[in-house]
Amino acid sequence: MNKKISKSMTIHFIGVGSAFTTSADFHSNILITVKSGKKMLIDCGSDARFTTAEWGRNHGELNPQIDAVYISHLHADHIGGLEWLAFSTYFNPKAAKPHIYGVDEHLSRLWKDSLRSGLKYIGDKVTSLTDYFVPHYLKPGKSFVWENIQFTTIKMLHVKNSEKNVYSYGLVIEEIDGGPGYLFTSDTVFDDNLLKTLKMWAPKVRFIFQDTETTPFRTSVHAHYEDLCSLPIDIRKKMWLYHHSPNPPYHPKDDGFKGFVSKGQSFG
Ligand SMILES: [Zn+2]
Repeated sequence: MNKKISKSMTIHFIGVGSAFTTSADFHSNILITVKSGKKMLIDCGSDARFTTAEWGRNHGELNPQIDAVYISHLHADHIGGLEWLAFSTYFNPKAAKPHIYGVDEHLSRLWKDSLRSGLKYIGDKVTSLTDYFVPHYLKPGKSFVWENIQFTTIKMLHVKNSEKNVYSYGLVIEEIDGGPGYLFTSDTVFDDNLLKTLKMWAPKVRFIFQDTETTPFRTSVHAHYEDLCSLPIDIRKKMWLYHHSPNPPYHPKDDGFKGFVSKGQSFG
């Protein structure tokens, strides 16, 4: 049966840069919009107040309201904007409490390990996560649905550490009855798990959005461009590269990739 292609969902890369980026690229966060006007952020890094405003200026919405956020892991370029989002909705009588989605491993630590230092005391009130957000605790590998879009969490190794590995949770993003979706790797090392994930999903998705390090020094926590060049061509030809440094010294189209995602680029 041919699936009908829906044009309800648009994926906007409001930032495409690494943790060290500047306003040239901003942090790698995504804004998903749907026909109803609702908006979901995939990660809300410390640049989010600038990136959402820039998106708003470019799309005729002076003050875009964020209805939901998915967090892939707890690094500041992915969650550093949540305090801003919490305050800007808490004190706005017209704004609904945003939904926040994340795997239990991260969401259960978000308040204690990050947000409570800035958000806990409001005047005489002692607050908790649920005063600012509607939390949805997810199981790794399981799916959830928001606005007719199915999101499936994909566990990726981000930091290999002898005391404790840090995992990031990518997503497969598919409109229900909307044709092939997208694989978004989130932050990941280049390892056998990434290879296995890419081989499994490449035939099923329209594009792969791949974390890519382009610096001459390697941080060991991202997939480096030169390692990604060793992937099979069937995978590279579906791959858009993001999380790069400004003016990366590579030519991805010559190497079989779709290209680097540029700030502000949209899909769908
Ligand atoms: Zn990270």
